[in-house]
Order: sequence, then C-alpha cells, then structure tokens
Amino acid sequence: MFARPLIDGVDFALNGKELRGNVALGALPRLGDVLADSQGDIAFALCGFKDGDRLLLQIELSGNCRLRCQRCLGELVYPVAITASLHLVPAGRIEEVDTDDEIECIEASSEIDVLSLVEDELLLGIPYSPRHPEGECAAQVNELTQSANPFAVLADINKKQ
Ligand SMILES: [Zn+2]
Repeated sequence: MFARPLIDGVDFALNGKELRGNVALGALPRLGDVLADSQGDIAFALCGFKDGDRLLLQIELSGNCRLRCQRCLGELVYPVAITASLHLVPAGRIEEVDTDDEIECIEASSEIDVLSLVEDELLLGIPYSPRHPEGECAAQVNELTQSANPFAVLADINKKQ
C-alpha cells in the first residue's frame, strides 16, 4: 500500500501547484459496482489555479476502464477522458455558493483526499448504463440469429396443419 496523497486545497490553488500520478482502479472501492473488472489504472493530473478571487482545482483523468454492457452483459472497454474544474469553497459556505455557480464546489479543506476526488469524478463521468456501439454488441448478433430460430419454423409448420 502507498500513502493516499492529500493536498491542502488553498495552498495548492494559491501557489499553482500540480500533482500527477496513476491510481489503480482496484484502489477505488466505490467504482466496484460499475466495473466489469478492476484491472488497469487511471492517470490523473491535478492543478491548482486562481481565477479572480476564486480558487480552483482542475482535474484531468485518462485511461481505460472495463465496464459491463447493459445490453449483452459483455465486457466493454470505456476510454476515460474527463476534465473538470472544482471551485474551492471555505468550509460552511458550500450551500450558499453552490446555488449560483455552474462549477462543482468542494470544501477547501487542508487535507483533500486526491484519490477520493478521482473516484468522485469517475463516478460522475462514467456512463451509468454503458452499451457497446451498434454492430459490436453480442446482443444484436443474438437478435439476428433469432429470425432463423428453428422453433419459429416449427410454429409455422404447426399453423399449417
Ligand atoms: Zn453489448
């Protein structure tokens, strides 16, 4: 095991800090339900910046994760490419700021858990009901072969008798 990286939100944004790394999908337990397989890892890049008097974090995620196709239940490789900005808000002010801000707000804690941020963004960004693209889904192949289903032919014969 390695230590979970923690950042001080305000310091990170004020000083334009950056943090890059990789996290194994298996280390993100809340993703367990959506993944077909927890093999692989996700690269993250986190950078802090100031926009006027707002403190922000930008998070970028890339990598592949294996999801379960909701049509054929087969495995589906989903390329993750997520970029999100997070507005750092002082503790206790999340409620009042959140309402008139289109950017997601998080508490400007002095110990922000980076892996938990990565996990949150993946949960938001991964499709809830993923499906193979048209033509690549095993369920479609099944539908095609159903028209040549021997039982359908049998039913036809029965009708004629
Ligand atoms: Zn499928």
